[in-house]
Amino acid sequence: MTRVAIIGAGPSGMAQLRSFQSAQAKGINVPEFVCFEKQSDWGGQWNYTWRTGLDKNGEPVHSSMYRYLWSNGPKEALEFADYSFNEHFGKAIGSYPPREVLWDYIKGRVEKANVRQYVRFNSAVRHIEFNEITQQFLVTVHDYQQDKMYSENFDYVIVASGHFSTPKVPKYEGFEHFGGRILHAHDFRDALEFKGKTVLIVGSSYSAEDIGSQCYKYGAKQIISCYRNQPMGYNWPVNWSERPALLKVDQTHAYFADGSSIKVDAIILCTGYLHYFPFISEDLRLKTDNRLYPLGLYKGVVWEKNTKLFYLGMQDQWYTFNMFDAQAWYVRDIILGEILLPSLTEMQMHTQQWHDTENAITEIPDMYKFQGDYIMELVEETDYPTFDIEAMRLIFMEWKKHKKQNIMTFRDHIYTSVITGTKAALHHTCWLDALDDSLEAYLQDDSAQQKKAV
Ligand code: FAD
Ligand code: NAP
Repeated sequence: MTRVAIIGAGPSGMAQLRSFQSAQAKGINVPEFVCFEKQSDWGGQWNYTWRTGLDKNGEPVHSSMYRYLWSNGPKEALEFADYSFNEHFGKAIGSYPPREVLWDYIKGRVEKANVRQYVRFNSAVRHIEFNEITQQFLVTVHDYQQDKMYSENFDYVIVASGHFSTPKVPKYEGFEHFGGRILHAHDFRDALEFKGKTVLIVGSSYSAEDIGSQCYKYGAKQIISCYRNQPMGYNWPVNWSERPALLKVDQTHAYFADGSSIKVDAIILCTGYLHYFPFISEDLRLKTDNRLYPLGLYKGVVWEKNTKLFYLGMQDQWYTFNMFDAQAWYVRDIILGEILLPSLTEMQMHTQQWHDTENAITEIPDMYKFQGDYIMELVEETDYPTFDIEAMRLIFMEWKKHKKQNIMTFRDHIYTSVITGTKAALHHTCWLDALDDSLEAYLQDDSAQQKKAV
C-alpha cells in the first residue's frame, strides 16, 4: 500500500490529516498516512510550553509562543472554510482570541475528524533520505516513549515542521560584557519578568511589535525598540521610543546609529527565525529566507526536483490556517493522482514568475493580494470549499488601518466572518485591561467574573 509520512502535527500537519480524512469520508481510497510529532500533543506553535532550551525529551523546544499571546491578526482572516468559529464555539466571540482559544479551535476540527489515531507523538524525525532504486524515502525516527530508533519506508513525505522555532541570533559588540539579560524572542515567556525594567527590543517586525506591547501592558518602565531598515512607525505610548540600528552595548548601556545611548536592563532580540531542517538529506533540504514565494517549491509546496516530497507552510504568513488547508488539499490531490504535475522546466518557470512578482512588491497591502491570489490558485484545483478571498483582503486592510489608529487598541475591533457572515462579538474586556488570557476568562460573558479571576 502507498504510504505517506507527515512530519509535524502543527496546524499544517493537522490540515494534511484532515484533508486525507475528508477524502476518506467521501469514500475515496486514500494511502496509509502516518504523522510524526516530536511533542506529546498537537498544535505546533499553539501548544505552549513554559520551557525554553530543551524539551522533556532533550529536543529543542519548538514553540516560540509566550504567556498572554493573543492573535495578532483578525481570526476572520484565518478561519477554516470547512469548520467555522461559530461551529466550534457555538456563539460569536471576539476577533483577536488569545492563544489557548485558537488552539482549542484548531484542535476542534481534527478531533471531530477523529484523526489523532494517525499521529505518533513523542516521535522526532531524525533523518530522511530518498532511495533512487526503490523510489522510496527512508524515514528514521526517535520514539521517545520506547526510547528506540527505527526506520520505515514511505512513498511520499510531507514536511510540515514549521519555520519559526530556530532563532536567528545576531551578535553585537559588547554582548559578552552586558550586565543584564539577553534573550531571543523564541525564549521570551512572560512579560511580568520585565515589569519596572527598561527593555531594549531589537527588530521591527511582528515579534518586536507584540513583545514590546506585552512588556508595556504588563508594566515595563520603558521600552526602546530599534530597527535596521524601517521603523514600525506606530503611535507608541509615551514610555516607548523607536531608535535606529543598535551599534554596540557595554555593561549597562546600548548605543545607536544616531549617536544616542541609553541604560537598559534587558535586551530582547526579535530578529526572526531560520528555515532549519537538519533531519532531511542535503539534496532534499529547502533553503530559503522568510518570504512569500520561495524558489524550489512548485505552487509553494511541491519539491520540484523530487515531486514525491512536499513542504507545507514554508511561506512568510499573512494568511495561515486557511492557506495551510489550501496547500494540504492540493498536496493530497497530487498524491491521489487527481492533479498531474507539469515538467520540471514548466514548474520552475511557474515558480520563477511568482517569485519575480513577489520581488516587485513594494507596498504591504499588495502582499495580502499576492498571498490571497496564491491561495485561490490552489483552492480552485481541489474540493476545498472556496471562500471570498477578496473579503478577507479587505479585513486585512481594516486591520492595518486599526493598527495605525492605535497600536494598543486594534485588538478591540471586530469583523464579520467571510465564512458564515457572523459578526464577531465585542469582547467583554478591552485587550489592554485583559490580563488573564485563559480560555475560561475569554469565553465567559460576565466581565465582573473576569475581573475577579484576574
Ligand atoms: P508549527 O506550528 O511550527 O508546527 C510544526 C510542528 O512540527 C510542531 O508541532 C513540531 O513539534 C513538529 N516538528 C518539528 N520538527 C519535527 C521533527 N523533526 N520530528 C517530528 N516533529 C517535528 N499565526 C496566526 O495565524 N496568528 C497568530 O497570532 C500567530 N502568532 C504567532 C506567534 C508566534 C510567536 C509565532 C512564532 C508564530 C505565530 N503564528 C501565528 C504563525 C504560526 O507559525 C502558524 O499559525 C502555525 O503555527 C504554523 O503551523 P505549522 O504547522 O506550519 O508549523
Ligand atoms: P520576522 O517577521 O521574520 O522579522 C524579523 C525581524 O528581525 C525583522 O524586523 C528584521 O529586520 C529583524 N532582523 C533580522 N536580523 C537582524 C539583525 N541582524 N539585526 C537587527 N534586526 C534584525 O520574525 P518575527 O517578527 O519573529 O515574526 C515571526 C512570526 O511570528 C510572524 O508570522 C508573526 O506574525 C508571528 N508572531 C505573532 C505574534 C502574535 O502576536 N500573535 C507575536 C510574535 C510573532 P529587517 O526588516 O531589517 O530585515
